[in-house]
Amino acid sequence: MTDCYFCKGKVVQQKIKVDFRWGRKLKVIENVPAGVCQQCGEKYFQSTVYKTMEKLAASRAKPAGRLTVDVVRFKRAV
Ligand SMILES: [Zn+2]
Repeated sequence: MTDCYFCKGKVVQQKIKVDFRWGRKLKVIENVPAGVCQQCGEKYFQSTVYKTMEKLAASRAKPAGRLTVDVVRFKRAV
């Protein structure tokens, strides 16, 4: 894929960090090969890459690192 489906921007293959979430869980996966639109930032994954991410997300293998994530509720600025 070379053109973005949404904006027709240029899609470039990159290794990116993906915030992969399913249900209430979130795992950050690094070094994921993906096509990234240089215009709108839309990400494109090959189906095999996506399946691998799902497996990694479900895996109980020891993570390479941990992040602390804050959850906040949206509210209007006062
Ligand atoms: Zn785009």
